[in-house]
Amino acid sequence: MKVIRAKSAGFCWGVERAVQVAREEAQGGQKRVYTDGPLIHNSQMMKALSSEDIREVGDYNSQSQIDIAPSNEKDSVVVVRAHGISPERRKYLKQLGLPFRDGTCPDVGIIAGKIKLHAEKGFHVVIFGDPEHPEVIGLMGYANEKGHVVSHADDIESLPALNGKIALVSQSTMFTHEYKEVAQQLKERFEEVVVFDTICGATKERQSDLILLVEQGAEVIVVIGGKHSANTRKLAKLATAQGRPTFHIETSKDLDPNVLSNYQIAGVTAGASTPEFIIREVCEVLEQIETKI
Ligand code: SF4
Repeated sequence: MKVIRAKSAGFCWGVERAVQVAREEAQGGQKRVYTDGPLIHNSQMMKALSSEDIREVGDYNSQSQIDIAPSNEKDSVVVVRAHGISPERRKYLKQLGLPFRDGTCPDVGIIAGKIKLHAEKGFHVVIFGDPEHPEVIGLMGYANEKGHVVSHADDIESLPALNGKIALVSQSTMFTHEYKEVAQQLKERFEEVVVFDTICGATKERQSDLILLVEQGAEVIVVIGGKHSANTRKLAKLATAQGRPTFHIETSKDLDPNVLSNYQIAGVTAGASTPEFIIREVCEVLEQIETKI
């Protein structure tokens, strides 16, 4: 079958940077790197990094206490995940006494900065995102008890009465059209609302490239990425909304050649934390599928 690959498929600059930070610290396995929860949301990449002694400790949300066994053989360092962490978590990690490097994506850092600044100025802060996602959990920590999370425009009516100014930000990987709806509803209910466009450029690019795949004739869409990856899940949702059969897979092993052979053209995209070696392998397997029609 013919394969069209989205230009932006794969690592975004924030993920690239977090991996680079961890690798720099690991020095090819000479030092041990502990990441507080997954450095990025891709288990195949985390497995590949473990061969350089980059190890995930703690839990998915970076909330539990972490047990770092002292290593006599080599120096260790703690690296913060691309999704960022709350100020409290930062304090906790630093008091563990190990050297500390920050792998937080600068785009997430900008959102945290806006929240902190506005909370300090007395604003209420509304975050559009998934309350269970580590990025949102981390961001809430900057809101100084003045934060609220909404995951849908309908949630606006359930917010308590908020007196005074409100700053609205979004988790970096949300849909622009949904964010606009949230902003609209918030402005209808409250008088003084300041809206910040904090959906990152990488997310917007991946979403518009997906629409392009459909325009270029993709009959079926294959979205590659971790099941926990918010931006990958969003891409799969967007592809389904375009009326195309969509398969969210983690690796080429998840492909069903029998089903896919019913199509002539596959559009392939991948989340911001999907490594190149997986994307290439998936494209190769797809190209070898003989179309029935
Ligand atoms: S998806 Fe956006 S916010 Fe998340 S790591 Fe990539 S560039 Fe940063």
